[in-house]
Amino acid sequence: MIVQTYYLLILSTFISLTGIAQSKSICITIDDLPLISTDNTNQNQQYVIDRLIAHGKQFQAPIIGFVNESKLYKEPSKTNFRISMLEKWVSNGFELGNHGYSHLNYDKVDTTTYFNDILLGEKISKKLSKKHNLPFRFYRHPFLHAGDTPEKEVALENFLERNNYREAPVTVDNSDWIFARAYDKAIDSKDEEMRIKIAEAYVPYMISKTIFYEKNAQALFNRDIPQILLIHANRINADLLDNLMEQLLQEGYSFAPLDQALKDPAYQSNDHIAKPWGISWLQRWAKNKKMSSDFYEGEPACPKFIQEYTGLTE
Ligand SMILES: [Zn+2]
Repeated sequence: MIVQTYYLLILSTFISLTGIAQSKSICITIDDLPLISTDNTNQNQQYVIDRLIAHGKQFQAPIIGFVNESKLYKEPSKTNFRISMLEKWVSNGFELGNHGYSHLNYDKVDTTTYFNDILLGEKISKKLSKKHNLPFRFYRHPFLHAGDTPEKEVALENFLERNNYREAPVTVDNSDWIFARAYDKAIDSKDEEMRIKIAEAYVPYMISKTIFYEKNAQALFNRDIPQILLIHANRINADLLDNLMEQLLQEGYSFAPLDQALKDPAYQSNDHIAKPWGISWLQRWAKNKKMSSDFYEGEPACPKFIQEYTGLTE
């Protein structure tokens, strides 16, 4: 018993000295703001933003939203309203980041086109962030594509650095976008039974994904790392992000801001793959660490009934 207590003391001293957190943390990042939905009415736009903000506040989670500013101008009559939704976001203390003006696929365009699109994508969000005393400092790659050649990877990194951006990696990648399409379809077609079925499958799926990537981090670093979850500004998250966050708390997670998550040395790992792949940064790092094929096995799939209902596949 004395020996056991002694070891516990040593262990807790070690933990406090090294600063290794006993609890797990996760950063919630939300892409494709102000809205990605089949319903582009102002009413739905407001519903999604209001609910996401409310969930973030309820859990005191420093969620960050990544914007495609082209969405502000698709319907000129809605421009001012959509800008006001972004302003509501920052005025509630939540950070915005740049997700490219028009959500370009870096593999399909040259660097000049891609970089101009990034600069075009900061006009409104940067101004609003400044007005509300928030930093505007992160860039999230559309489709998680960071360059399909070594030259393009380095060119983008250098461009971001020159323009005072930091990359916003993703570790917990998932198919919330397929769930969202299914959820939208069920709502649009007033199929309440289907909507509930999709909703019931969503949070367990997202938790299984988180646990899968948690095991990936353990395999790579022999410890937990701050995870970074990617979700989108859609109706399914407007309705269920609070349930998801509640479950994440049950799994032992706390909610961390992105800049804090990125302080973990794991994020210094080599993420160059020079492939047209939009994959988790954990898998990027694993490629460079030459992990064996079983590292990638067992990734939870989006349920078949959801893929069939939407006609979308992973
Ligand atoms: Zn996106």
